Formats: sequence, structure tokens, C-alpha cells
Amino acid sequence: MSADGEAVVAAADSVADRIEAERDHLTQLDSAIGDADHGGNMARGWAEAAEAARDLADPDPETVVKTVGKTLMAEVGGASGPLFGGSLVFAAGELGDGLTEETAVAFAETYLEKVRDRGDAQVGDQTMVDALVPAVHSFKKSIETDELSPLEALAKAVAAAERGVEFTVPIRASKGRASYLGWRSVGHQDPGATSTLFILEELLDVAREHADADFDVDAAIDATSPTIPDDEATGE
Ligand code: ADP
Ligand code: MG
Repeated sequence: MSADGEAVVAAADSVADRIEAERDHLTQLDSAIGDADHGGNMARGWAEAAEAARDLADPDPETVVKTVGKTLMAEVGGASGPLFGGSLVFAAGELGDGLTEETAVAFAETYLEKVRDRGDAQVGDQTMVDALVPAVHSFKKSIETDELSPLEALAKAVAAAERGVEFTVPIRASKGRASYLGWRSVGHQDPGATSTLFILEELLDVAREHADADFDVDAAIDATSPTIPDDEATGE
């Protein structure tokens, strides 16, 4: 098995474990503004997807992602199954030449484009798009403009997705089941944006494990992030 293929199988496994651990949390979020199926659907889908990925003989990244996507499409259902699964199947094509900085950016952009095409949601509609857009834009900028390492870029993308998830709370849902609630969706965190963040956090974890063990991502992020001086530091 290629090292990259192995890393992608490990990522599917970590995501499946995390989503299972967050099943009740995601169900709670979806019961507030939806139909309480997001945790169960995602946990079942990702468990099957990770198993299908593990069963592949000699997989490459494209094949693993395609397999995961197809399984999610078949198993997750609801609005989010085709969005997560179909977009993964489509974006997997960007990994035909393996996993590099360039193919990772292309993959992220194509995935986002497909989610937007299929769901027709914009930033501010209280959906997974609110987590994805800042994450993908941050990742692309980190790699292409700021020339950060893929690991730093991914860590910053996770931080951006986290802010995107927080942003879903005070806004009103305009897409998906939550939009039926109108203004009553205000004050609730979007389940699909939240599961998207969990997936990204697991990708970062697996990337850390497969990257140079001596590289301290958190220190690197701290060093590149602007800091707000506190009273003590400014002597006031
Ligand atoms: P359903 O709403 O069919 O029960 P899920 O509960 O599995 O499906 O997923 C709900 C999540 O799907 C929402 O929290 C939101 O993030 C996402 N979602 C729903 N509709 C759209 C859409 N049109 N575009 C993008 N994301 C959407
Ligand atoms: Mg639901």
C-alpha cells in the first residue's frame, strides 16, 4: 500500500471513530433545528465507509476517497449524504496524481465547488458551507500565498472552520430542513457545519501523525498568528 493511501485509510478510520463519539452531540444539534438523524446517519455511514476503505487491496488516495464517498452516498441519506458523499466522489479525481500540496488544494476547492453546486447554499445560510468556505479559502491562501507547510495550512483551516461553526449560531437558516423554522433557527449551531469541523480536525490529527514527528504545529501556528497585547505586556 502507498504511504499516502495508508494515511487516507487511517483518516477515514479516525473520522469514523470521532463521528461515532460525537453521535449524540450531532443528534442533539439536529433535533433542535432538524429531524435528529444527523448523528445516527453520519455514524453509520462513516463506519461503513471506513470498513470499505480498509477492505481495499493496495489502495491509492483517489480510490480510497472515491470508495468513502460512494459508501457515504449509499448509507448516510438525508440532505447531507449526497453533499458529503457525492462531493467526495467528484473531488477524488483531483488526487489521481497522489497527495501533494497542489492536489490537496485542488481537492479542497473541487469539494467545496461541488457542495455549493449541489446544495446551492451560500455563506450565511446556516449550513456546512459556513464551515467549509473559510476552511478551504484559508488552506489555499496558506499554501499558495503564505507558503506554509501543508500541516500548518491544515491547522489554520481547522481554526477557520471552527470560527465558521460559531458563525452559524446567531444566523438564520435559509437552506435545508432548518430553514422551515425561519427565525426560530437563530441561536442554534448547524449540525452539518459541526460534523464538517470534526472531519477536518481528524484529518489534521492523522496528518500530524504521518508528518515529521518533531514538527510542532501549534508552536508554528502561534508564531505566525497575530497576537493582541495584554495589559501586562503593554505596561498599562
Ligand atoms: P436532513 O436535513 O435531510 O435530515 P442531515 O440531518 O443529515 O440531513 O444534515 C443536515 C445538514 O445538512 C445541515 O445541518 C446542513 O449543514 C446541511 N445542509 C442541508 N441542506 C443543505 C444545502 N442545501 N447546502 C449545504 N448544506 C446543507
Ligand atoms: Mg437531519
